[in-house]
Amino acid sequence: MSATNWIIRGATIAGEKPGDIAVSDGVITEIGPNLDADKHKAQVLDSDGLIALPGLVDLHTHLREPGREDAETVETGTAAAALGGYTAVHAMANTEPVADTAGVVEQVWRLGKAAGYADVQPVGAVTVDLNGHQLAELGAMADSAAHVRVFSDDGKCVADPLLMRRALEYVKAFDGVIAQHAQDPRLTEGAQLNEGEMSGRLGLAGWPAVAEEGIVARDCLLAAHVGSALHICHVSTAGSVEIIRWAKSKGWPVTAEVTPHHLLLTDELAVGYDPVFKVNPPLRTSADVNELRQALADGTIDAVATDHAPHPVEAKETEWAEAAWGMTGLETALRVVHQAMVSTGLLDWAGVADRMSVRPARIGRLTQHGTPLRPGAPANLTLYDPAAPAEAVSPSGASKSRNTPFAGMELPGRVVATFLRGTPTVLDGKLTRA
Ligand SMILES: [Zn+2]
Repeated sequence: MSATNWIIRGATIAGEKPGDIAVSDGVITEIGPNLDADKHKAQVLDSDGLIALPGLVDLHTHLREPGREDAETVETGTAAAALGGYTAVHAMANTEPVADTAGVVEQVWRLGKAAGYADVQPVGAVTVDLNGHQLAELGAMADSAAHVRVFSDDGKCVADPLLMRRALEYVKAFDGVIAQHAQDPRLTEGAQLNEGEMSGRLGLAGWPAVAEEGIVARDCLLAAHVGSALHICHVSTAGSVEIIRWAKSKGWPVTAEVTPHHLLLTDELAVGYDPVFKVNPPLRTSADVNELRQALADGTIDAVATDHAPHPVEAKETEWAEAAWGMTGLETALRVVHQAMVSTGLLDWAGVADRMSVRPARIGRLTQHGTPLRPGAPANLTLYDPAAPAEAVSPSGASKSRNTPFAGMELPGRVVATFLRGTPTVLDGKLTRA
């Protein structure tokens, strides 16, 4: 659909009274009651009862291109993002080849521009080929057209403390951030499921919480020592929350994210050995889930990030031990957060806007996303129907992959529309172009 003027009629900007939002040339031009469609030469989108959120921003998406286009492409992944209410995603670096040079990050950035469903901000690798030994060309990626500010070896941990220190030192010069996948490799050799009662019962090798918490603690100390920004990916344990709370109380430059699945699911789901529930870091206990929810509510955890990790059917529909790690998440994230955080009274919709758009944009150094819906702001926004009756999640969507752990689960709410710079990518819950 071509760019046009819109009046979004009767939506409620999170935390405010219902009203109208006028959009023209990619920008919000006016907000108020009963805006005149003729005066604005605008098409009206009736949005009574809908919540307007700034377009969601994902800090942690695996788009798989280049290299694993059988699992996802930039186009299918960003289409899934748009359907989930996202207007920007950070594309993780563990592609084939790895996004460890200016050339690869620019390629991903261009593919995002060509697809046009959501802005794609490439994340650069910290080390060459994710090898954990040699720093990648962080400066060249930062200076490239892709303007990389977030670096991560996600999928792998930067385990070497000296290398982690050097990376933090390096990115400080251009206000970069190192996003750590906190997993001590030695403590998780062969690990399959959260170490605890369930792993014992199922005979699956345990993945202890301390394997995450040890790295989180070490890296918080390093970030403080260097005075450079650390972001902790997919926090999954109560102990990590406690360490991050402590680091933040010291005023250290540490931020953190949690995934939708770690806010809703527990390791008990592994009881049937269905690898759809196999994920890195693993699903934990209900005590961890409760602590993660509290931490997201009180701001200790800054952001929800999907860790959208698509895999082809053959990689997931196999024995647990052989199956790939990861779950899709872009199309369901907002509904899961609705269920886990809003329905439970832990967050209101203004809080959701903060944790799923404002703060992730700030952490990802995006200036054109995560801005409050105000006249003059870029018209990146999502319309969500919180009253839509709970409906079972369908595994088939825009993503090329089907490995959603929420399939068949009843979740509330519905993403009705997504606008990227004033142009709808999604209307009535469907992509505006096939
Ligand atoms: Zn990870």
